[in-house]
Amino acid sequence: MTAPKEKPVTALDLETYRRRAEEFVGALDLEYYEHFSGRKPTCDTAAVYDRYPELFTKAAIDELEGIYQAAKDEEKRRLAYLLAFTVDGFMGEQTKHLGDEVANTEGAATITVDGESIGLRQAGVAQANEADGARRGRIQEARLAATGELLNPLLDRVWRRCHELALELGYPHYRELYSEVKGLDYGLLRAEMEGFLRATEGLYSRVMDRLSRERMGVPYSELAYADLPYLWRAPGFDDVFTRAGLVPTLRATLAGLQIDLDAQSNVHVDTEVRKLKSPRAFCAPVRVPGEIYLVVLPQGGQEDYAALLHEAGHTEHFAHVDAGLPFEYRHLGDNAVTEGFAFTFDHLVLNREWLARYLDFTDVDEYLRFANVNDLYFMRRYAAKLCYETELHLQTGSLDGMAALYSEFLSAATMIEVPEANYLVDVDDSFYCASYLRAWMLEGSFRMILQDRYGADWFVNPAAGDWLKGMWADGQHFPAERLLLKHGGGRLDAEPLKHHFETALGR
Ligand SMILES: [Zn+2]
Repeated sequence: MTAPKEKPVTALDLETYRRRAEEFVGALDLEYYEHFSGRKPTCDTAAVYDRYPELFTKAAIDELEGIYQAAKDEEKRRLAYLLAFTVDGFMGEQTKHLGDEVANTEGAATITVDGESIGLRQAGVAQANEADGARRGRIQEARLAATGELLNPLLDRVWRRCHELALELGYPHYRELYSEVKGLDYGLLRAEMEGFLRATEGLYSRVMDRLSRERMGVPYSELAYADLPYLWRAPGFDDVFTRAGLVPTLRATLAGLQIDLDAQSNVHVDTEVRKLKSPRAFCAPVRVPGEIYLVVLPQGGQEDYAALLHEAGHTEHFAHVDAGLPFEYRHLGDNAVTEGFAFTFDHLVLNREWLARYLDFTDVDEYLRFANVNDLYFMRRYAAKLCYETELHLQTGSLDGMAALYSEFLSAATMIEVPEANYLVDVDDSFYCASYLRAWMLEGSFRMILQDRYGADWFVNPAAGDWLKGMWADGQHFPAERLLLKHGGGRLDAEPLKHHFETALGR
């Protein structure tokens, strides 16, 4: 007698999987926190992946896929988030050594300019602070050369491998895989962004030219890509955006929304100066909502203020998430949501009332025009990145031709010659640029709602704080489109942003 053919045993116990997944996310974020805060010179994410060998196998994806197909309603949404996490993890696991090599090569690389050695990660700051245009050009050349020699060969391997893995998972290309697991049509988003690029083309060209003439003394057509970091650094505003005032301004802004930063036992603000600390602020949500790091190396300047406010938006979002929600809604979900709250905070630097109240800055017309052009530039840049990435991630093999395509898209949108060499360092994992773009649109709507309901100085209205906290409590349970509808907004599109830009810059 033969035994009945056994049904394959489901090795995957969903509750155990979720618990281990949450532990992994925390461990990975802790590794990033320790490396980029300068506590740990090398980044060893491979060691973290190695502690969770069962999470990111092809078999785990197949089993989750099966459970997902059979699930219904709310459980299906949770599983969709979990499956997207597992696919990201699968890609990360398969490229973990290369990924660490990229981070560590970049961290250790130096460039030499006029006989002086500068760390590659610090070179962007040096270029932005350099008043001599010719020397800015030399720093830029050295950065591009280092990128081309040291990073691009590694990144080429990373992306070709990720593209190959999409095929192994049964999809025609990486774009289709991500479209499926994130439930997003990148072609539709691209069309929306192309519409935005066309609609703002004339405005952008006029305001960029005026800004370039005023601040750099030449028409925009004569400005070089190497000059842009200096244009955006705008040291002329440093007496308003002081280094000493940075963290106190954040503390006061949060107090206006009835949040006492110092009393939040789950928020750890790391302001310590360390030699290897990233010059850019960041947030590491190690446990949500229990253990969130807000890391900053105060330098001053308007970009530093916007960056800290942005990361504080993430921090407060994660810190206010309902601890009783499932892992998927606390940690995973639609990242456009957390980015939308981050943009809500960083766009305070465009708010006349906020500038007056917290920075005692009232003669703001010139600054506001500058800051709005800056915002429009970056949004157009991201729109072009999405157009490029929707092409890059159709590739299944050689990436030949992609550098030229990158330059073509980026140059057209920003109307300046963008060098080809950044065609891989300027790409985020898993179409993250789409999260930024959807967050920009979400913030455009939030800004309208906040101003209409609570006034232009909504940031000192406790009711506005309550409105935000109510949404924060949901974590990333609802995708940006649904969140907006639930809270009184309309369709997620670029219309509110077009209106903001035209109002701020159209005259
Ligand atoms: Zn962000």
